[in-house]
Amino acid sequence: KVRLEDIKRRFNNVTAIEDISFEIPDGEFWVLVGPSGCGKSTILRTIAGLESATSGKLFIGDSLVNNVPARQRDVAMVFQNYALYPHMTVAQNIAFGLQMRKVDSKIIQERVVNVARSLSLEQLLNRKPKQLSGGQQQRVALGRAIAREPQVFLLDEPLSNLDAQLRDDTRAELKQLHQELGITTIYVTHDQVEAMTLADKIVVLNRGRIQQIGDPQNIYARPANQMVAAFLGNPP
Ligand code: ATP
Ligand code: MG
Repeated sequence: KVRLEDIKRRFNNVTAIEDISFEIPDGEFWVLVGPSGCGKSTILRTIAGLESATSGKLFIGDSLVNNVPARQRDVAMVFQNYALYPHMTVAQNIAFGLQMRKVDSKIIQERVVNVARSLSLEQLLNRKPKQLSGGQQQRVALGRAIAREPQVFLLDEPLSNLDAQLRDDTRAELKQLHQELGITTIYVTHDQVEAMTLADKIVVLNRGRIQQIGDPQNIYARPANQMVAAFLGNPP
């Protein structure tokens, strides 16, 4: 599970997020939505350990991880802009996180092959990122994160640079992968369709605060306030 207790993050005198509390049971797929600047990325980065909370408690599994450095957290994050290693091949990109963790090279080989198969990357393993399309690069970024088999998977607008068709395809692949692997996932988007189709639970944020948490149908049918209603496209 992932548990946030009253997490706050301030940058100088700007409060980016506050009063952020929720608990995600193992294996669920949660989606964070809200307008630009509402604090979605800050929440993900705090869970990943790329930001530290100004106050509050963060648990991954049963461990309090506030003071655990990012590379020792059992989480993998995928960013909007892929952030692949340009000088490495696709196979090396996927293997990198495992090599860092001193995983046995036979196991690394197997994982690379499996990940490549599930993301349709088999033919691309020896290419460099600049020889790939945007959609292919994004699949490599997903593969690199999945190969680590993390306890928690964090995705920050992973499809927003893709065209509509590719976005639909990759969204379906992601959903399938989640059903196969059952990794606890937190997914940031400002696309309502993505939120409604992927989420077990949606967290709606505005100005750094949670407006509502609920399953998609519920939130759509019974928005807690005007902002939620407008955001999910069901104005009163
Ligand atoms: P978007 O949809 O545009 O990606 P977001 O919901 O991910 O937005 P955040 O990036 O989490 O929003 O930012 C939340 C708030 O915190 C914003 O007001 C932003 O300007 C502020 N903020 C984020 N990072 C920093 C930083 N390093 N220094 C100062 N302010 C920051
Ligand atoms: Mg963001």
